[in-house]
Amino acid sequence: MSRKFNFNPGPSTLPLSVLEKVRDEFVDYKGKGFSLIEASHRGKDYEDVHNTAITLMKSMLKLPDNYKVLFLGGGATFQFSMIPHNFLSKDKSCDFLVTGEWSKKAQADAKKLGKVNLVYDGAADKYTKLPSVSSLKFDSNAAYVHMTSNETIHGNQWNEWPDTGKVPLIVDMSSDIMSRRIPVEKMAMIYAGAQKNLGPAGAAVVIIRDDMLTKCPDSVTAYLNYKLHADNNSLYNTPPVFSIYVIKLVMEWLNEKGGLTAMEKEVDQKAANIYAAIDSSGGFYTCPVAKNCRSKMNVVYKLPNEELEKQFLDQATAQGMIGLKGHRALGGCRASLYNALPLEATVALANFMNDFAKKHG
Ligand SMILES: *Cc1c(COP(=O)(O)O)cnc(C)c1O
Repeated sequence: MSRKFNFNPGPSTLPLSVLEKVRDEFVDYKGKGFSLIEASHRGKDYEDVHNTAITLMKSMLKLPDNYKVLFLGGGATFQFSMIPHNFLSKDKSCDFLVTGEWSKKAQADAKKLGKVNLVYDGAADKYTKLPSVSSLKFDSNAAYVHMTSNETIHGNQWNEWPDTGKVPLIVDMSSDIMSRRIPVEKMAMIYAGAQKNLGPAGAAVVIIRDDMLTKCPDSVTAYLNYKLHADNNSLYNTPPVFSIYVIKLVMEWLNEKGGLTAMEKEVDQKAANIYAAIDSSGGFYTCPVAKNCRSKMNVVYKLPNEELEKQFLDQATAQGMIGLKGHRALGGCRASLYNALPLEATVALANFMNDFAKKHG
């Protein structure tokens, strides 16, 4: 098989060695005569996988002991509703930083259960800029502050983290978790859908500080309650076992590569390759996002017109580079550079971009 360079935004590319391991183990798990996805989620085989995935995540992110790692169904979108169900109520308000489509969706769900105060809304700038965190004025009585560390569709990414004092900071890291080191102690909760940087779709990872669990009201129904999941080590009901199994393999792969310090370096290099192709094109490619907050995970850019964009995408596909079409809401192109995308893929894309610009510029 000739493997494509896969720039899809999510579901997205996974490490080849992980896919091969899944293939090798899939039908006959470790010579046991059954597949892991046929095994009980309460049996030893699965339990080992489950707990190893949690342990590796904790060590990779250097989580303090008072944080739990949960695996839940429903993707990141389900977290948009689970968070206000647990931490917001009609008489309370929460603070939101709206920096793109995902934070917009998250605040729309929160609004159905309580008040939302937009501390920042980048709509007027079409989400091409981010403010400095020191300029943000938070409400000291807010139930929580919510932000999206990397806006997958608009291609912006925070490089600094607000200090929210006693107010819990909740961060949607769906598209940049495990791509860089983060000051976890500033955050009360982090969540991420698995299908961008962690594994296959089907699971969301929730990292939550113990004091948050004491706030979960008894009035919410069982599956919505974080405390119930934490008390049961994410085994209250059947967890998304296949997704968690692959997450475990991806964490082992990441660990072997040198963890987040090594990943950060590679991520910087990959993003630099693509932004250099944009910035050296004399305006042929344009990235609307301000330089100080350009995403290293999702590089968005446009060509001079749609006809050239179509040619660009067709030729890229013919050369084995897929998934470069921009989000349907924005048009243009988007190169998603998640952890599992090899560095060579960004070299190949940058070379192709340079050649294409020379021919058509
Ligand atoms: C993809 C994405 C989501 C939605 O994830 P699902 O798992 O499909 O619900 C939410 N937030 C961000 C930042 C994303 O990139």
